[in-house]
Amino acid sequence: MAGSLARTVALDRRPPPAPAGSARNLVNQWTEPEAIGPEHVRAYVLILKTRGCYWADVKGCSMCGYSRDTLGRSATHSELASQIKQASASYRGEPYVKVYTSGSFLDDREVDPESRADLLKVFAPQAKRFLLETLPEFATAETLEPLKAVFPGEVEVAMGLESADPEILRRFVNKGAPPQEYFDAADRVRSLGLRTKAYLLLKPPYLTEKEAVADVVRSVAVAREHFDAVSVNPVHIQGGTVVEWLYQRRRYRPPWLWSLVDAMARSAAVRGTTRLVTFPTAGGRPRGPHNCGTCDPTVLGALEEASLDQRFDRLASLDCACRARYERESELEPLGVES
Ligand code: SF4
Ligand SMILES: [Zn+2]
Repeated sequence: MAGSLARTVALDRRPPPAPAGSARNLVNQWTEPEAIGPEHVRAYVLILKTRGCYWADVKGCSMCGYSRDTLGRSATHSELASQIKQASASYRGEPYVKVYTSGSFLDDREVDPESRADLLKVFAPQAKRFLLETLPEFATAETLEPLKAVFPGEVEVAMGLESADPEILRRFVNKGAPPQEYFDAADRVRSLGLRTKAYLLLKPPYLTEKEAVADVVRSVAVAREHFDAVSVNPVHIQGGTVVEWLYQRRRYRPPWLWSLVDAMARSAAVRGTTRLVTFPTAGGRPRGPHNCGTCDPTVLGALEEASLDQRFDRLASLDCACRARYERESELEPLGVES
């Protein structure tokens, strides 16, 4: 069921080609708290309007609805120049800059090589670190060396590994490449002297809460060999996805924040020197990771603080009446079939 459903959903969510000149504005931009080593800093985040992820056209990942924000065709050099100008006008010298495209910044069909270098030049005089996101096949010396040449700070290459388990990645997340391709790409990036970051997914569909936590912990233990930082992203329900289809039929609940707390506390013990963070999207909301509603702000605050300070020991002291319900429901999740 999942294969054909995923294909239908993927094709449904790609918008028709946008008229010429309509990609002159960024999808979004904002600033957020971050850290570079022990130093707390502001990060400037921007989302470029591009054609989006090619994999979303082929099949698409089960939780990803980002193609809704895309153009349905490649952005022209002049449209990208206008977006870069907009970013340049808004940038206030934040030390950390993160750029996303709802796909791969290093895919020439999304952002042409000249525009990529032009964007980095905007931040080169002030930013200490520039993060870009890409699928592993585009992370090569050919795409990265020109960026290194124009940006004197650190370039951080982020990849959506999601899980280090090949079966979970292929069957449940519906990714196009196995984990090994991500590890090989990260090793290539590191050999160029650049930083690597992996995004891991908490609770792909078809996993129980406890299985999802175990998957993140196992994945961190493997990813630490290849990535300088790991960010744990709990699933939030995005429009037009397989996960939304299941959610609307009450066959999927976004992860409990207690699962995220457990995943972070247990991953902290196996991460080695890799930086471990989580900044959940839609935290505390029905379509995002949530608890009972009362304790959500406290738990989210503790997770952000732990991520910024890299101190996860304080997570153990979090509690609420809903924790017992979470534990009870988690125990019931696997069907109690007698052997
Ligand atoms: S999660 Fe990444 S690889 Fe998967 S469809 Fe979305 S943008 Fe593409
Ligand atoms: Zn609670």
